[in-house]
Amino acid sequence: MGKGDEPGKILVVSSVPDLAEITEKAVSGSFEVAYASNEQEGLEKARKEMPDMIVLGYIEPQGTAFNLHRKLRGGWITKNIPLLIVDLYPQDQSRRVLTMEEGLQIEADEYIAGEDYEAISRLLEPARFREKLDTRLRERVNTFKEALLDPNTFCVTWEQIAGRGAFEMQQEEIIDKVYEAVQGGIANGISVTDNPGGNPAISTEMLCIEIKKLGIEPLVHLACRDKNRNEMESMLYGLSALGVRNVLLLTGDAPSDAAFGGKSKPVFDLDPIHVLQLVEMMNNGLEHEVLGKKRVLAPTDLFAGVCVSPFKQQEAELMGQYYKLSKKIQAGAKFIINQVGFDVRKLHELLTWLKVNGYNIPVLANIYILPYGTAKFMNASEIPGCVVTDKLVAELAEEKKAEDKGKAARLLRAAKMYALAKGMGCAGAHIGGIGISYDMVEYIVRKGEELAEKWQDLVAEFDYPQKDGFYLFEKDPKTGLNLDKPTPRPRKPSLKSFGMPSPPIMYTFCSVAHVLLFNPNSLLFKLFRPLARFIDSSRIQKAVFGYFEHLAKVAFFSCMNCGDCAIFDVAYLCPMSQCPKSQRNGPCGGSHEGWCEVYPDERKCVWVKAYERWKARKAEDKIGAYITPPCNWELWETPSWLNFYLGRDHTAKRLGVKPPGKSVSAKADVAKGAEKAAQA
Ligand code: SF4
Repeated sequence: MGKGDEPGKILVVSSVPDLAEITEKAVSGSFEVAYASNEQEGLEKARKEMPDMIVLGYIEPQGTAFNLHRKLRGGWITKNIPLLIVDLYPQDQSRRVLTMEEGLQIEADEYIAGEDYEAISRLLEPARFREKLDTRLRERVNTFKEALLDPNTFCVTWEQIAGRGAFEMQQEEIIDKVYEAVQGGIANGISVTDNPGGNPAISTEMLCIEIKKLGIEPLVHLACRDKNRNEMESMLYGLSALGVRNVLLLTGDAPSDAAFGGKSKPVFDLDPIHVLQLVEMMNNGLEHEVLGKKRVLAPTDLFAGVCVSPFKQQEAELMGQYYKLSKKIQAGAKFIINQVGFDVRKLHELLTWLKVNGYNIPVLANIYILPYGTAKFMNASEIPGCVVTDKLVAELAEEKKAEDKGKAARLLRAAKMYALAKGMGCAGAHIGGIGISYDMVEYIVRKGEELAEKWQDLVAEFDYPQKDGFYLFEKDPKTGLNLDKPTPRPRKPSLKSFGMPSPPIMYTFCSVAHVLLFNPNSLLFKLFRPLARFIDSSRIQKAVFGYFEHLAKVAFFSCMNCGDCAIFDVAYLCPMSQCPKSQRNGPCGGSHEGWCEVYPDERKCVWVKAYERWKARKAEDKIGAYITPPCNWELWETPSWLNFYLGRDHTAKRLGVKPPGKSVSAKADVAKGAEKAAQA
């Protein structure tokens, strides 16, 4: 335990130091043993140092240990720390840790006691005491993380779909299924979707806290659609405090119109990359300022994963997914779950991409038990990001004619997918579907394990290419999967097929303007910077300038006046106005054949356009080149050009444009700038 290479810590609280010595002997250096001799010191150390475990012995006067136990169990910081109470002197009534009545109120597992001194002594022999400590310490282990990172375990998670309402059977059924999963022991974790399909549903976080209490690790889906950065942070800290550590960070489907009073306002304040950065900061102890003083918060132990959609049909869509995935990994993603799809070559493509790029990160293969009705929806692109081809729909239509309406066939398909995922090198399976029972999950796992040995024989059954679908790697004719060799990507300007020049004239115009005006080394930049400072020095000047800047930017970019302009980051397209999910770091998973999830057949995905613009200039790698931070809302409705020139927005910070010094007046600055420009 402990963080990184540091050993874990056990806190012994007892008026008698013998207990600390016994503990030290038992752990023999593998844990640091801290000691507190009274209630106050014990409580303080437990709260400040947050040990991996607390061993509680007799504390003077009698009754104090019980009191401390109650405070530790009820305390916000300490409630999840495993506790072990040890009665060292059972025959000495004056030094019993707990009275008989108090003892009855404690869980038997956390109390070593008895009347017999010999028996207690035997239990406290180093090896046996270590065993007891280890059993209690296991309570803190994140068994989902452990299974996922263990190369000898094929991790299984079971996805539950939360419903709307507080007292509905759908929620009851989830709890029943979790009970079965705990009893059955086949699943390593239970995941719960977050407002599936953008529809309101009961809070996945609260449901997951209940699931944790039932004795299995939950995996909380957190969609950026409904939460701003404060809400996201609150949620993550709340979950951490209550012992829920596994999170799946998603962009989220666009909101549906099923919410109270009509469609809800989409939030998308952060994207999953930003949330990963936040999680990393929280895990390292988030620094912040209170009244000018730096404070560091206690580190969390969150384990965060992300999604990717490897089943995209077009090159631009697929490349966008992978560029974004590389940013997610860079930001701290610890595992990946793919979107729903059935083309095994595409799943293998994800594993090949990870290998070729040197990323050693576990993938949980999404195994969706697909009935005919859902397949038709997915085929019609009604469930964003899920890909089911005509060929597969036709197969399901045939299977549906069977007496069991195709149930056996779809379970067998899922088991085969399990076998393929295991054979190809995924770290586990994420099993989902509507109305899935525990028996079905068990069947898929058992049958999948049976089939895994000959997984190569199954590849041909999962050959579901999309029409004109793009593959990132060349096909391996021997296996039907992929070679490590990337497919050639000819510089085909596909926008030409829409009757547009590629890249468009607007892109060329913006590139030239960028080089001339927004390059910190350019002459015009040096000239305009003092002018910007001068304009910024008066409220009226700033308002007039802002008005005309906004007019120009509305005409060219449909500008929303966010003040923290991101058009440089999206090939001179505005992600705030042209992407319904305000994605600043790459596409969401919802595009279909290049069209935006929210405006199918109407608007191209802004990231597809950006890719095509950059690719025409051999610069498509720009999508993955750096992480664009979230919009700084402090700059809302302020002139973005001034913000850039005066070093306030994210692009200025990235390019090292510092705010001008305060010692020189704005007018003097203008004169100096003009002089510099004239000299140049
Ligand atoms: S424009 Fe692209 S990234 Fe934005 S919502 Fe549409 S599909 Fe998603």
